[in-house]
Amino acid sequence: MTATTERPETTLDPDLLVDGSMLIGGEWVPSSGGETIDVVNPATVQVLARVPRGNAADVDAAVRAAEQAFPAWRDLDATSRGRLLFRWADLIEQHGTALDQLESQEVGRPSWGPPPMAGQLRFIAGQADKVQGLSLPTYSPDQLGLTLREPYGVVGAIIPWNAPGPMFATEVGAAIAAGNTIVIKPAEDAPLTPLALAKLALEAGIPPGVVNVVTGYGGEAGAAIPAHPSIRRMGFTGSPQTGSLIMKACADNLVPLHLELGGKSPQVVFPDADLDAAVPAMVMGITLNTGQICAAGSRVVCLRSVHDELVDRLAAQMQRVRVGAWHEPVNMGPLISERQHQRVLGYIDLGREAGAEVVTGGGVPAGYDTGYFVEPTLFDNVAPDMRIAQEEIFGPVLSVIAVDDEAEAIEVANGTEYGLVASVWTNDVGTAVRMSRRLQAGQVAVNSPLGAGVIGGPFGGYKHSGFGRTMGADSVLEWTQVKTVSMRAAVPPVPRTRTPEDD
Ligand code: NAP
Ligand code: MG
Repeated sequence: MTATTERPETTLDPDLLVDGSMLIGGEWVPSSGGETIDVVNPATVQVLARVPRGNAADVDAAVRAAEQAFPAWRDLDATSRGRLLFRWADLIEQHGTALDQLESQEVGRPSWGPPPMAGQLRFIAGQADKVQGLSLPTYSPDQLGLTLREPYGVVGAIIPWNAPGPMFATEVGAAIAAGNTIVIKPAEDAPLTPLALAKLALEAGIPPGVVNVVTGYGGEAGAAIPAHPSIRRMGFTGSPQTGSLIMKACADNLVPLHLELGGKSPQVVFPDADLDAAVPAMVMGITLNTGQICAAGSRVVCLRSVHDELVDRLAAQMQRVRVGAWHEPVNMGPLISERQHQRVLGYIDLGREAGAEVVTGGGVPAGYDTGYFVEPTLFDNVAPDMRIAQEEIFGPVLSVIAVDDEAEAIEVANGTEYGLVASVWTNDVGTAVRMSRRLQAGQVAVNSPLGAGVIGGPFGGYKHSGFGRTMGADSVLEWTQVKTVSMRAAVPPVPRTRTPEDD
């Protein structure tokens, strides 16, 4: 691993930086409690901005604003709703560099170039006027049977900090394209990109109250959203533990939801894999965003015959990963927070204590006592039941598990509670087909680490990785409910009541 040592200065576009306020009903407001939360750059631990510490009263105000905005937004024709989303996407593209800098500084990642949000929104905007119902058969030629797909009303969403821009665009875009109005809470660690995107949504002409952003802590602002009596549907992205709490709140409130939760994604490597291509991709798959990606391929499940060469190559590749702050030519930044730093280092200790071998990495890089940096870490001799092989670490920690044959590879790959993404590295089409069918995951990627690259691929989990699918061609439909309409040309004759004369 190569470490850089310079300490960068903060550079944020004042046009996009929202400092000290959140968006309710088209107004930038403080929280009713008046308190704020510092948003920190995890590379320098500098405060970037402050956001309101929203509470249940703020969520209530946001829900009321969303309720007021709903009838006009629902009744706006779908083509016009789509056009406003396209305009929003154009503004995001125009501010692409500034948005990338903002997100990279609050999350702590190096630049990714133009952000994906504009493309995501255009894909969604194109669906707005393709929400269709059915015509249904009837018993009589005088009758029509139809289904209508209608928005739920005011919906809620809660998103995590690891990719706040894309999460915001996906949840908000699909929900409002369907005609809903939304109250969304970003994570306290990375709320600035969501606020900037909301600002651009207003500028694009999306009416006040359609998109409301309440910042704050999960247990306060977050918990108030699924518990609010006027919320009609929820989307949640985050950890399984919080997902379970949200689902309980939704159960109490009889609110349907989708959950996008974590992963412990396997990378299954067969001896015929092209290791020249696979190894850099696998290392990228666990170091991108410092391993803080739900889809990160965090377990290598390899056939024993390829094990030694693979481990040597993975270690060499990991040592080439440059670590540093966002503005430097680096591959990997710090973890998001002190809490995550402690958590990831704690898992590295757990792995050592359980008897796994640290091949490379295993601690804080030299010269990095400021910021939440950790080395890309490779564990070998990992047993499938070790905690580092079962639990989501959410850091750049890769565990290698050797297996004897394909059957054992499937058993180990499927042997966690998660099922988000599974990768297979092979040049044999038969192996690829069998594995694609047998792996329990919402996405299977052959010769690719994260399952990306498919346009409109539905994204979501099996098992404890959640349920519901986002990002696909049906993502707007997820935010609609179906109404059956039965329509007669005339009031049908009612059967005559029997009278005494009939007998
Ligand atoms: P988290 O702790 O579950 O937090 C996610 C969001 O929920 C944050 O906005 C958080 O707010 C909020 N929250 C926390 N407690 C809450 C409560 N009691 N009621 C309502 N909201 C609450 O997850 P995280 O650690 O930030 O994010 C990492 C997790 O997200 C990982 O497990 C990762 O795999 C998963 N993830 C999944 C996907 C996917 O698409 N499947 C994508 C990205 C991330 P605060 O943080 O502000 O308190
Ligand atoms: Mg931060």
